[in-house]
Amino acid sequence: MADNDRDYYEVLGVSKTATQDEIKSAYRTLAKKYHPDLNHSPDAPAKFKEVTQAYEVLSDPQKRQQYDQFGKAAFENNGANGFNGFNSANMNADDFGDINDIFAQFFGGGSSNSSRRRSNVPHKGRDKVVRVKLSFDQAVNGTKVDIPLDYITTCPDCHGTGARSADDIQTCPTCRGTGRVRTRTNTIFGMMESEGVCPDCGGSGKRVTAKCPTCHGAGKIRKNETITVNIPNGVDTGDNIKIDNKGEAGNNGGPNGDLIIQIEVAPSQTFTRKGGDVYINVPISVSDALLGATVTVPSVRGDCDLVIPPCSEPNTVLKMRQVGIRLPNGRIGDQYVTLNVKFPKNLNNEQKDLINKFADQEENKHDGPFSWLKHTFKK
Ligand SMILES: [Zn+2]
Ligand SMILES: [Zn+2]
Repeated sequence: MADNDRDYYEVLGVSKTATQDEIKSAYRTLAKKYHPDLNHSPDAPAKFKEVTQAYEVLSDPQKRQQYDQFGKAAFENNGANGFNGFNSANMNADDFGDINDIFAQFFGGGSSNSSRRRSNVPHKGRDKVVRVKLSFDQAVNGTKVDIPLDYITTCPDCHGTGARSADDIQTCPTCRGTGRVRTRTNTIFGMMESEGVCPDCGGSGKRVTAKCPTCHGAGKIRKNETITVNIPNGVDTGDNIKIDNKGEAGNNGGPNGDLIIQIEVAPSQTFTRKGGDVYINVPISVSDALLGATVTVPSVRGDCDLVIPPCSEPNTVLKMRQVGIRLPNGRIGDQYVTLNVKFPKNLNNEQKDLINKFADQEENKHDGPFSWLKHTFKK
């Protein structure tokens, strides 16, 4: 949906430096224009949703700052950066209910579209995102991390009903169990009939006559727990690990959301990685480069022997098959070694004699790759 990519400032038609009053006024105009109760064109609901989302973010200084810094990415994954924004790509009827609530806060009253929102139906909670920083070695080899969690979860004793027992739950007489009541409200558009959450039961459609002693009727309890999570070998920055049901509490007895662990891996001083492949620079002497040698090089799997073929030019890249990182899917990467040929800082007389002898033997010494060496040494 291309519309979801539009910049929020553009959506409201305001500048990046717009004041809160300007944002409010722009939203007021556009919301009136597109509200589905007032505009019956087929694209009105989508337009209304778009302007309301933009307003929801830009009218909140903290969200606006996150948006300015990170763009819409700040509000993805349901709560990266600790913010439970809605993700426009994953909107459903329930989110549309949220939007009508924003609209209601703004203009007073609600909208008949709120009837789409069934507030007494069980809903899964939102996902919670935590970031875990790993050292390069921990990421390569896998590790265990302890994650302290402080979350609200459905009360295990009443399963979210808030009642002492099933006999203590009655149907709410005000809304007759629907959780919604219809009201007439004066708004800037005139009289609007609207539907809202039942004030007596808070939308549950039920009345509790004796409260659950564990949660004192809330249906939810706060839980502190530290979980130990196994991080598999080979994870990299940007990988997510999902732990079921450790996110935020669901509503009306719905399950908790999930915990999403976002992995961030510190760089290594020695290795550069791309997926499972590892890149290193290895210093070697001029004589090893010319004559060939077997040298010991570091790898993520420990020190390994590397055969340098004779006459290897500087910056030659040698591939060491399957010496890279074992990824969570079992594939093993390769290691790529760049030969960093170190020239001596100075030569003693004996070395100069030897190089001169070598120069005498060189073919094409005036236009060959070593011709500049000879000039230096003849000085
Ligand atoms: Zn309870
Ligand atoms: Zn009720």
